Amino acid sequence: MQPWTSTALPQLPGQGPPLRLHDTAAGRVQPTAPGRTARMYVCGITPYDATHLGHAATYLAFDLVHRYWRDAGHQVHYVQNVTDVDDPLLERAIRDQDDWVVLGMRETALFREDMEALRVLPPRDFVGAVEAIGEIVEVVAKLLACGAAYRIDDPGYPDVYFDHRAAPHFGSESGYDTNTMIRLAAERGGDPQRPGKRHPLDALMWRTAREGEPSWDSELGAGRPGWHVECCAIGLNRLGTSFDVQGGGSDLIFPHHEFSAAHAEALTGQYPMARNYVHTGMIGLNGEKMSKSKGNLVFVSRLRADQVDPMALRLALLSDHYRTDRSWNTGMLDTAVSRLERWREAVARPAGASADDAIELIRAYLANDLDTVGALATVDAWATETLTRRAHDVDGPALVRTAVDALLGIAL
Ligand code: ZN
Repeated sequence: MQPWTSTALPQLPGQGPPLRLHDTAAGRVQPTAPGRTARMYVCGITPYDATHLGHAATYLAFDLVHRYWRDAGHQVHYVQNVTDVDDPLLERAIRDQDDWVVLGMRETALFREDMEALRVLPPRDFVGAVEAIGEIVEVVAKLLACGAAYRIDDPGYPDVYFDHRAAPHFGSESGYDTNTMIRLAAERGGDPQRPGKRHPLDALMWRTAREGEPSWDSELGAGRPGWHVECCAIGLNRLGTSFDVQGGGSDLIFPHHEFSAAHAEALTGQYPMARNYVHTGMIGLNGEKMSKSKGNLVFVSRLRADQVDPMALRLALLSDHYRTDRSWNTGMLDTAVSRLERWREAVARPAGASADDAIELIRAYLANDLDTVGALATVDAWATETLTRRAHDVDGPALVRTAVDALLGIAL
C-alpha cells in the first residue's frame, strides 16, 4: 500500500542520550540499542472506526520514537500493517450493508489523511494483509510442516491452529498466567472454547473458506489468514528477527503480540522477535472506556471537520505519558490550544531565552521513556522566560521552533 506523505524533518545540532523505553517483557525501562538502521514494527489498524483518539495516541507515541532515533542519526526502517481482512471488518461491513473491500479502502484513506494532518512520519513499508497473503501462507505452511501448527479436528472446517507449546518462550512477552491468557483470549477475538483444539489457548492461523466470506486459494486450501500470523510474516520478512521495537496499544499485549512472537520463534528458532515490546495506554472519554460498543469514539476526522488545529490535537494527546490510561475531555483540547498559542507567540519573537539548555532537557526527557510531560513543561518554561524577561538570544526562537518540530512533530 502507498503510505501517506511525509512532512519535512528538520535537523537539529547535537544529539541526546540513547533512547530508553519500557519493555513489557522485561517489565522495566531499558535502553534501545539500534544499529545504523533502527527497526520498528507497529501494529496497524483494522480499517473501520478510523482514526479514533486511541489510534491517534498510539501512532503519535511511536512517531516520537521514530523522530528521536532520526535525531540521533539513525535511519529508521518502520513497518506498519493494515488488517484489511479479518472478522471485525467483515462484521462491520455486514452490519452496515457495505462492501468490505470498499469499507477497508475508505477507512484506510481516512487514516492516511489523519496521520498526515497530525504530522506522523510515514512507515517505509505500509502493508495490507490482503497483499501479504502469499507470504502469510508460506509461514503457515512451514509451521504445519514442522508440526508447530495443526489442522483442527473438524471435518467441516479443518482450520489451521498454532500449537502454543511449540514456542519455548511462550508467555514471556506478556508474563500472564494461563487463566489470564484464556480470559483475555476469549475477550479479544480468540476462541478458547472451540472443540477440536489441542489446547484452549492455541490460536487460529488459517481459516478455511466459509460460505459468504472472502477467501484465497492457496496450498493450504481456500481460506483467509489469522491476525497474529499476519504481523509475524509482514514483520519478519521486512525486519528480520530481534528487531528493535514492536509496538501497539496495551490491548495487544495478549494474545496478539504473544502469538506473533511465538509464531516467529517456532519459525526461525530465534528469540526474541522484538527486543522491546512497547505498549501505549488506553484513551477513555469523560471517565468511561472509549469503545465501539459504547458508541463513544471520538474521531480525528470529526475534530478536523470542526476546525480543530491538528497541532493542538497532537499537543493534547502528548500532554500525558504514553503508557498512562487516560480520559479524553474537551478541556484537554482547550489547554493545548492556549499552550500552542503561547509557544507560537514566543517563537515569533526576534530574540528569546537561550535554546541550548531547553533542547538538551527536551531530549533528556524524551530519552527517558518518552517523558512528554517533562518535555512539554520544558518548552513552557522556555516560552515563559522568552515572553516575560528581557531575552537577547537571537537564535533561541528559531532553534526552539526547530526542536519542537523535529522532536515533538509540532509545527509552530
Ligand atoms: Zn499486529
